[in-house]
Amino acid sequence: MRYLGWKTEITRLALLVGAAALLGSAMGLGPWLVVIATSGYALWSLYHLHQLNHWLLHGQEQEPPEATGLWGQVLDLIFQIQREDREVKARLQAMVDYLRSSFASMSDATVMLDPAGNIEWCNRAAGTLLGLRQSDDSGRLLVNLLRSPEFIRYFDAEKYDEPLEMVSPVNQQIRLLVSITFFGRRSRLLFARDVTRTHRLEQMRRDFVANVSHELRTPLTVIGGYLDTFAGQVAENPRWQRAIEQMQQQSRRMQNLVSDLMALSRLESLPSPRERERIALRPLMEMIREEALIAADGERDFQLECDDSLAVLGHEGELRSAFSNLAVNAAKYTRPGDSIWMRWYADRDHAYFEVSDSGQGIEPQHIPRLTERFYRVDPSRSSATGGTGLGLAIVKHVLLRHQAELRVHSEPGKGSTFTCVFPLAATERLAS
Ligand code: ADP
Repeated sequence: MRYLGWKTEITRLALLVGAAALLGSAMGLGPWLVVIATSGYALWSLYHLHQLNHWLLHGQEQEPPEATGLWGQVLDLIFQIQREDREVKARLQAMVDYLRSSFASMSDATVMLDPAGNIEWCNRAAGTLLGLRQSDDSGRLLVNLLRSPEFIRYFDAEKYDEPLEMVSPVNQQIRLLVSITFFGRRSRLLFARDVTRTHRLEQMRRDFVANVSHELRTPLTVIGGYLDTFAGQVAENPRWQRAIEQMQQQSRRMQNLVSDLMALSRLESLPSPRERERIALRPLMEMIREEALIAADGERDFQLECDDSLAVLGHEGELRSAFSNLAVNAAKYTRPGDSIWMRWYADRDHAYFEVSDSGQGIEPQHIPRLTERFYRVDPSRSSATGGTGLGLAIVKHVLLRHQAELRVHSEPGKGSTFTCVFPLAATERLAS
């Protein structure tokens, strides 16, 4: 099919030249008729070329000019390619229109950015939430329009695994959750969602927990105080003695719970401390070891290893509470005769505060959930150990406030290792 036009054309030319040669020799005109025939053929081809040129320049929407043979085929093929091209374009345009209209009608702000960070397109919600207008701001650098330092830091760092929560530049009352993804050749798509309601609910929850814990503290202290007084006076009646002992135990548990809840509320609501103290670890670790040994219901082989030339920078009270939670846990979840190791050391990238034990260990499925509030591997055993289920949540929050993270490694029956990993920027080498 493809070469049919070509063959027809060759045959047509051969017949024309052959007939002109025969006629020319019969009429005694020599090659003149051949010359006239080939010139006529060349003029005819030129005419078709002109028609093709004219059609390509002016009339692509119309049918191609009529032609036969090779010219007809070439024109038909061009027309067919153009038609297919138009169909593909129309399909793509329809898809782009569809995507744009769905983005445009979204309640989340959507902004498309080119690889240099200039705005290519944004929807209507970008106007209400971010103050951006497609007509005015298209082609402008986004960071010149959203000037909040936290946003600029987030945008430039290009670490978009976690979204950023920030105040809307249009209205200080609106809280936004901003997420960015790369697409194509490092173009970026930014979404901003109004999370004011969720933020307010979260704030209310925090305030509620903080207020309830605060209100419960005084009555519990009073009850605990009276129970201690009674305990000294009813020694001769064993029935009362047992009841009072249990009441004392439960009231102590509630007091621990309230103080842990208050500690968590404080960690959640207060901004990270700006002033960082330089804290030497050895005295802190020795104090924590004493606390943990008191919490343990028997003997433990408690080893301590400390890089004395390295101090940690942070809030001493918070770090002591986090480290002490880990050490007391190690004491609680081991038996007499087990070993506990507490270490402070650094390598080229990080500094580590680590508490390992040779205790009962933790099944792998529990490990990702350990830092959730009130999560316990074995609730019955944990209440016997006097735990609140809040200890590791406190550790996680304290570490977050120190740009550090908690890593847990554990094997059931062999023991556990809880490691607080600090960036070296949160430490300081001490002159020896
Ligand atoms: P709790 O007050 O119950 O100890 P935590 O938040 O401190 O609460 O710990 C959560 C759970 O993690 C504990 O209930 C316990 O099951 C488990 N856990 C923590 N530390 C250890 C450890 N060193 N060995 C074994 N299990 C542990």
